[in-house]
Amino acid sequence: MKLLIINSGSSSIKYQLLAMEKEEVLASGLVERIGEAMGLIKCTFFPDSDRQHKVEKEEPVVSHNQGMLRVIDLLCDAKEGIIADTKEIDAIGHRVVHGGEDFSDPTLITDEVVAAIEKNIPLAPLHNPPNLDGIRVARQLFPDAPQVAVFDTAFHQSMPSRAFLYALPRELYEKHRVRRYGFHGTSHAYVAAECAKMLGKELNTCNLITVHLGNGSSMTAIEKGKSVDTSLGMTPLEGLVMGTRCGDVDPALHLFLQQNLGLDLPAIDRMLNKESGLKGLCGMNDLRDIHRAVEAGDEWAQHALDVLCYRNRKYLASFIAVLGQVDAIAFTAGIGENDPVVRAETLRGLENFGIMLDEVKNQERSCIARCLSTEASTIRIFVIPTNEELSIARQTARLIQK
Ligand code: AMP
Repeated sequence: MKLLIINSGSSSIKYQLLAMEKEEVLASGLVERIGEAMGLIKCTFFPDSDRQHKVEKEEPVVSHNQGMLRVIDLLCDAKEGIIADTKEIDAIGHRVVHGGEDFSDPTLITDEVVAAIEKNIPLAPLHNPPNLDGIRVARQLFPDAPQVAVFDTAFHQSMPSRAFLYALPRELYEKHRVRRYGFHGTSHAYVAAECAKMLGKELNTCNLITVHLGNGSSMTAIEKGKSVDTSLGMTPLEGLVMGTRCGDVDPALHLFLQQNLGLDLPAIDRMLNKESGLKGLCGMNDLRDIHRAVEAGDEWAQHALDVLCYRNRKYLASFIAVLGQVDAIAFTAGIGENDPVVRAETLRGLENFGIMLDEVKNQERSCIARCLSTEASTIRIFVIPTNEELSIARQTARLIQK
């Protein structure tokens, strides 16, 4: 079975073609700068194998439709491509950011499902419209293939009301669905499933804390395999310190900024989403640059690192309280998989909770899933590389096989 996975953004389309028998990636790539004067189309065939080869083309891509057509041309190219015809693709899996309260599972896309995703646009105005563009284009270009939507919010629909309700006038929830939704659900679900395998247990018997630290970051408390709390909120701004997003701040900050700095709401929104987090504190949002700056004695780079790790630690301890008993903590995404300093600082001083990091294992570089805790640690510590495309592909395959 061959599946095409599509992650359609405002000016880009990420895609992967997988053969599900061996979960092999046949092609993986990106169309960038859609709608700009010059676009970029990238494709890597058989990535990370001895058959790997890359194709890159610079040409204008006026729309998502044209971008998708270029991808199809590449995949079906007589010389370099890997399929003869689009009919070889058995199904398409789409990443959709916000499913609101309408979706708690992967869903076969119909006109009604498209309408429900449209209805949730106010909750994700930057993400759901380009996700819908990808769906519309794919439905046109692959009319015979089943199309499946996999939602970032779906995994967190199992949260109890005490975790998802904000202490606000209840009409805001009842009439306007203001509540915590949580994001990165595909990643948290994938990492949790892999973590259960590493523990040698069934997922529905595991209590886990999954720590997704990338440019966007979130932590999830998982009880018996289900999400019971998560750090991102109604939008992907709440919680941990991120690359350019602030995470938790006092909600009265908006009023202060408006009254004292004369900022309007779009300017405040831009500040909190694009100019805050690590970048706001030290001008850099890549941890590798920040470490270099710390070594060179940059005081604000050190502050940025400290604030990030301290916030991680606070959330981690609060999620231990949420779960009571925890089998494992699993780090994932760009920072979680690669940064031993952030992992060590996030876990520092938590020995009394039964969290003991093996410093030597923590320093080892590797891109495979591994255990970093000592024998004495009652809570095990793992690094588990996330793979959202594979997770979407598995969920798509499971649904269409039903
Ligand atoms: P992601 O959003 O998961 O792609 O993560 C991107 C972030 O991961 C970057 O902004 C970096 O801060 C961080 N990152 C990636 N590679 C490394 C590395 N080798 N060491 C430390 N941080 C890294």
